Amino acid sequence: MLTWPSPQIPALPGRGLPIRVRDTSTGELAVAAPGPTASVYVCGITPYDATHLGHAATYVAFDLLVRGWRDAGLDVRYASNVTDIDDPLLERATATGVEWRDLAIEQTALFTEDMTALGVVPPDVFKGAVETIPDVVPAVAQMLAAGAAYRVPLEPGAGGSAPGLGDVYADLSADPSFGAVAGLERTQMLALFGERGGDPDRAGKRDPLDSLLWRRERPGEPAWDGGVLGTGRPGWHIECAVIARDGLGLPFDVQGGGVDLRFPHHEMSTSHARMLDGGLGARIHVHAGMVGLHGEKMSKSLGNLVLISVLRAGGEDPMAIRLAILAHHYASDWEWTDADLPAARARLDRWRSAVSGNGGPDAAETLAAIRTAIADDLDAPAALTAVDRWADLALAGAPTGWDLHDGDLEGAPGVISRAINALLGVRL
Ligand code: ZN
Repeated sequence: MLTWPSPQIPALPGRGLPIRVRDTSTGELAVAAPGPTASVYVCGITPYDATHLGHAATYVAFDLLVRGWRDAGLDVRYASNVTDIDDPLLERATATGVEWRDLAIEQTALFTEDMTALGVVPPDVFKGAVETIPDVVPAVAQMLAAGAAYRVPLEPGAGGSAPGLGDVYADLSADPSFGAVAGLERTQMLALFGERGGDPDRAGKRDPLDSLLWRRERPGEPAWDGGVLGTGRPGWHIECAVIARDGLGLPFDVQGGGVDLRFPHHEMSTSHARMLDGGLGARIHVHAGMVGLHGEKMSKSLGNLVLISVLRAGGEDPMAIRLAILAHHYASDWEWTDADLPAARARLDRWRSAVSGNGGPDAAETLAAIRTAIADDLDAPAALTAVDRWADLALAGAPTGWDLHDGDLEGAPGVISRAINALLGVRL
């Protein structure tokens, strides 16, 4: 799948710090990538209703991580996916009378345009579920052969020319570490599994929480050649496990996404990854909070989504949208209000004015403050405050600070402008 164009990331004097993030499995801060390399898998969209503010906030959060790692001199590998076949996509296509493939293509294109506009660094590995089927099939077959998966018989009429081959489910009892990602009680897991796309009541499963790996062909649904599995399509969790395994290698450093993916999606995909290679999936799980609107959760079912493409079509500067997102810490739940964009626009104007002159105090302290904020669990609001302080002094007529690096003298506005671009992804 084609990604989007990479934004230019200007060079900065010095080096960024090791980044610590909140591992939601332990609740503790942990160094996100302890070695010279860094790998992150951020779960991608199911391409319908793309890209709402909650999505954008998630990808901007992990973009800070990628930019911070690069600034610290790490060799970064970033993978993501697009779930271009799944039940919600088919349901939306049926409800709106659009062909599912057209809906997926159109919404994926909108998503990549939004990411480009928001200055998000594209993933190195960007794969769709459909194109991953040839990799998922042997992975599921391997789990079946190892006794880590089993078949569940189909209802009459299902299964195409091989109705005897059932749907394939993961056998969670084969993974003693299942539950470690979210750390939930079984009753909580059962409730969330039912709410978030799982099928706890499906007859024939060994455990209600066992999750679907391969769904056999059904009348009226698209299906692909599954070899020994029979025709069908992949489950969502195995899709991410296989793309992460093949794109990053196992184990990898960070698995990220919105907090609603913590369970069941990240629990299941990590479990599948463990069953595939016997080791860890992701070392650390990091989750972005939910974005609400007028006191309600922003959701497809409530029809109150704020779409980035709609804001852009209304003439909004994407950098103002990005700044509005960065004003909130990624890990907290927050509310989008009518005040967010005007405040971000005012800040953007102020910053642009401040770097347009040749005044302002020495940049070194501000650059260090931005780096410290990012290293401290991607604290974008603290980084914004540091830039605000510099801009206030610059606009108040503070004398020009000169920074000496690599033998060159450079005025502070140049360094600050590049730091805002490289570390915060905001083009001034
Ligand atoms: Zn995923």
